Amino acid sequence: MAEISGLSIHVRGIVQGVGFRPHVYQLAVKNNLTGWVRNTSNGVEIEIAGNPEAIKAFSSELRKFPPPLARIDEYKEREIKDVINAYAKFEIIESEPNSSQFIPVSPDMSICPDCLNELFDPTNRRFRYPFINCTNCGPRFSLIKDIPYDRPFTTMADFPMCPSCREEYENPGDRRFHAQPIACPECGPHIIFKSHGKTIHHNEDALQAAKDALINGQIVAIKGLGGYHLACDATNHKAVDTLRQRKRRVDKPFALMSFSVETIQKYCLISPEERSLLESRQKPIVLLNKSSSCSLPDQLAPGQNSLGFMLPYTPLHYLLLEPLSGFPDTLVMTSGNLSEEPIAFDDLDAENRLSGLADAFLTHNRGIYMRVDDSVKRVVNKKAVFTRRSRGYAPDPFPFPFQTMPIFAAGAELKNHFTLTRDKYAFHSHYIGDLENFETLQSYEQAIEHFERLFRIKPEVFACDLHPDYLSTRYSEDRSHKENKQLIQIQHHHAHMAACMLENGLPADEVVIGLTFDGTGYGLDSSIWGGEILIGDYSGFYRRFHLRYFPLPGGDTAVRNPARIALSILQTCNMDWDPTLPSVSQFSSKELHIIKNQINQKINSPLTSSMGRIFDAVSSMLGIRQTVTYEGQAAIELENHASVDETGSYEFIVSGDIIDYQPVIESILQEILKGVPAGVISARFHNTVSNLCLSVANNISRDTSLRTVVLSGGVWQNTLLLTKTIKLLESNGFKVLTHQKVPTNDACISLGQAAIAANIIKKET
Ligand code: ZN
Ligand code: ZN
Ligand code: FE
Repeated sequence: MAEISGLSIHVRGIVQGVGFRPHVYQLAVKNNLTGWVRNTSNGVEIEIAGNPEAIKAFSSELRKFPPPLARIDEYKEREIKDVINAYAKFEIIESEPNSSQFIPVSPDMSICPDCLNELFDPTNRRFRYPFINCTNCGPRFSLIKDIPYDRPFTTMADFPMCPSCREEYENPGDRRFHAQPIACPECGPHIIFKSHGKTIHHNEDALQAAKDALINGQIVAIKGLGGYHLACDATNHKAVDTLRQRKRRVDKPFALMSFSVETIQKYCLISPEERSLLESRQKPIVLLNKSSSCSLPDQLAPGQNSLGFMLPYTPLHYLLLEPLSGFPDTLVMTSGNLSEEPIAFDDLDAENRLSGLADAFLTHNRGIYMRVDDSVKRVVNKKAVFTRRSRGYAPDPFPFPFQTMPIFAAGAELKNHFTLTRDKYAFHSHYIGDLENFETLQSYEQAIEHFERLFRIKPEVFACDLHPDYLSTRYSEDRSHKENKQLIQIQHHHAHMAACMLENGLPADEVVIGLTFDGTGYGLDSSIWGGEILIGDYSGFYRRFHLRYFPLPGGDTAVRNPARIALSILQTCNMDWDPTLPSVSQFSSKELHIIKNQINQKINSPLTSSMGRIFDAVSSMLGIRQTVTYEGQAAIELENHASVDETGSYEFIVSGDIIDYQPVIESILQEILKGVPAGVISARFHNTVSNLCLSVANNISRDTSLRTVVLSGGVWQNTLLLTKTIKLLESNGFKVLTHQKVPTNDACISLGQAAIAANIIKKET
């Protein structure tokens, strides 16, 4: 008799709703194995029997080539002894869910190549059907209401399957086996066009009406995967201007969508890394450098050298953008909201909020349960980094190597994302937005409730920022109080450092040098920190160096007006306000008098050590930007001006724990008055900050022999500064850790808060 052995396998990770069981089934049948596969409450269980060689082949192929949307986090095998033809065949069997268990949920994924072929295949029954999907693609996170991931618990519950769809759904050999959002023109959702009281329900007619509106320069609100976009012809100056006015978005760049990479190449330079990012299954917005021949209107991204492009990611996008004579090859696809508000995703809400912004609606009757904004990435040093991590990535969890009770980490205020932990996972939320208004707070609370239900998490510990006025802090205070749980408040820059340590997998006992540079973070001394050199680990930190304090005359007014910051820094350095300096000349003498008074009398002039604000000040001194309409604008434009090959620099003075910028500011002023070009000064300033990083790292290393440097904070979104600094530190033997899995801006804060809270609890117990 032939030798027979058996194997029991348990797989954890993203293994449900992604075609894992049919994949296992086909693999088993191919290898002549018998047994079964089933979903459990926390993964997938497999038992197989057959030829030992075939079992080996099965196991290695499953691990190496899981289905495209699956992610294996844990793979356990156990040999089964005494197998004697235990099973007649291989089958997929049902399982009982356990209410306290959970499994990670797949993010929403762009249409797969197979579905795309079918979409444009006239012989296919889903030819030109805008909701075509399969187990390898389509909506997931945005339509799941609860687990187990079954149709009744999704927004597809209202659409009973037709016999043809049901047959595919029940056939383990079919690409749509147990694809919960399965649909066809017979039984599924359809698109609807609405404009000025006119409503069109027929898919093709609605699509054509939307195309006509776009060709005519109108603004169309388009319902997508995780919310509404506002779209217009990106080549039409007037349409772009109108959209800016209506959306009340002055300068912040608009995202763009083109049918193909070849079209985008007409406007931007695309490296091989950028191309593969554009074409990746997640289809993020990719920030690309404009080509010199770019003919698109400047108002798409005023003052920027780059444009944010994405490829179509839903079948509807493909149908909308298919090349057609007279139809624009590129559309603006900006989030459907008024500036500062969260993206609209609920149909009634969208009609209310967007009717003043859009001339027409291209919507549909498949519900969106959770809003998800587009993700934004770019390539730095040939590696992809995030500016925003949301659609296509959230709620994919991060490994969380600390054994603790469940933690809720609230995040910061701007670019908020929260984090919830349980077991070995940290669930980092989709993008919530700037927690500065009621609408965003509501969206925050709804998302937290959803995550807690979906992943069966009941937080035992609450972690939040030190800032007493952040809405995220107040939320955590309220809840921890009501639920009688521990609240841990965490310093902002410590959280930055810990987030970067966590995503780079540093162990609990590792101590690092943290170069945390950003715009704003509440300090231990209640002033505004932002140029901080820390030494520390997950459970504590020491502020070794920081930038010399300077006042922000007018508080938030100064943040919006870099010229005020420049004046304050000059005053702090006892330097005259030279009337020829752009920062000075834009104010009347009366205004200058008031500002001087504000600074000297310390009226509404909080102290800060912010590195971000120094970049703002230099941008203003060079005449590049005096007022900003979005965060980071002045610094981005300063970076864009820099002459790349310039190697000169200025010098900070480090004395005690203070980094003094006075000599830097003096040199810059002298060079401005001498007429040195702004681009040269900007480059020298960038070089100066990189040199400072090396000098403080060397200083700390001499005292402590630490060699690992962590870079975190919004200032590191500056590609020029980041590349220069990494190169300099690495060439001097430092190990440099940066963010790649989450943005370096405040989006990462909640991850760091969770890691710190976990380690503090561990020390307490
Ligand atoms: Zn598909
Ligand atoms: Zn159907
Ligand atoms: Fe920050």
